[in-house]
Amino acid sequence: MLNRLGAATIVDSPVNIEDYIDFIKSLGMGYIEIRTEKNLASPQDLTDSDIKRIREKILSCRLIPIVHASFYDINIASLNILPRKASIEQIKICIEFAAKIGSSLVVTHAGSISKDYSQKYVEIGHNNTINSLKEIVAFAEKKDIIVGLENKQHSNDNYEMVEHFKEHLDFIKIINSPNLKVIFDVGHANINNMIEVDMREYIYKLKDYLVEMHVHDNLGTIDEHLALGKGNVKYLEAIKTVEELGLKIPVVLELKSMEDIKKSVQNLLSSECFKK
Ligand SMILES: [Zn+2]
Repeated sequence: MLNRLGAATIVDSPVNIEDYIDFIKSLGMGYIEIRTEKNLASPQDLTDSDIKRIREKILSCRLIPIVHASFYDINIASLNILPRKASIEQIKICIEFAAKIGSSLVVTHAGSISKDYSQKYVEIGHNNTINSLKEIVAFAEKKDIIVGLENKQHSNDNYEMVEHFKEHLDFIKIINSPNLKVIFDVGHANINNMIEVDMREYIYKLKDYLVEMHVHDNLGTIDEHLALGKGNVKYLEAIKTVEELGLKIPVVLELKSMEDIKKSVQNLLSSECFKK
């Protein structure tokens, strides 16, 4: 099970990418999720030789790379055509980067619309996400890359296009491509404004499309990305559900510091999931 664990890179990382890869390896994990943001791995800042060096480092550590498409300033649901087009282009660049780095999976968000707008505009945003995803997934098909659509946390400011399994499933079925799959973020689902999230139900509804889980903790109100054990997220229940379904998918920690990653791995190792 330990080799099915991974960790995402920290945006404001205190170490360079090579040292971060060594750190992940030293914890015994099998996956590294590269967030394509400024500092560590913004694709436009990397030369081909940088990318080759990172790829070789990942290979030599026997890690499997996953790419998280850029998401700061990115919104594929945007009501404004220019930012929406730029968002699609940026995600395509991340797909190209994934192909170069030896990753077959690119994680992306579905976008959002400000809550200043009425419901009518949410529907326009929804259609924008569909059209954006069609273009992104068609590009991914050519590169043989899987796009993983991630659920987001409930927000008071924005209507998120995917908060619930119903919306998640809708996009998957409408796009209807073998290259569009599901990333279930267990922490985000804990902040979805429902009385209580049924992790099992979410996973069961999406099991045929699930390719990865993101885990982090929070107290159900703010998307804090806390170390595991610091909040009330039912990550163990989610991991157990995936296990009972026999899904051998990566479980990736999305945290804010290397210390929190270390503590969270220890937390998982001491849990019943890992005592088999
Ligand atoms: Zn996530």
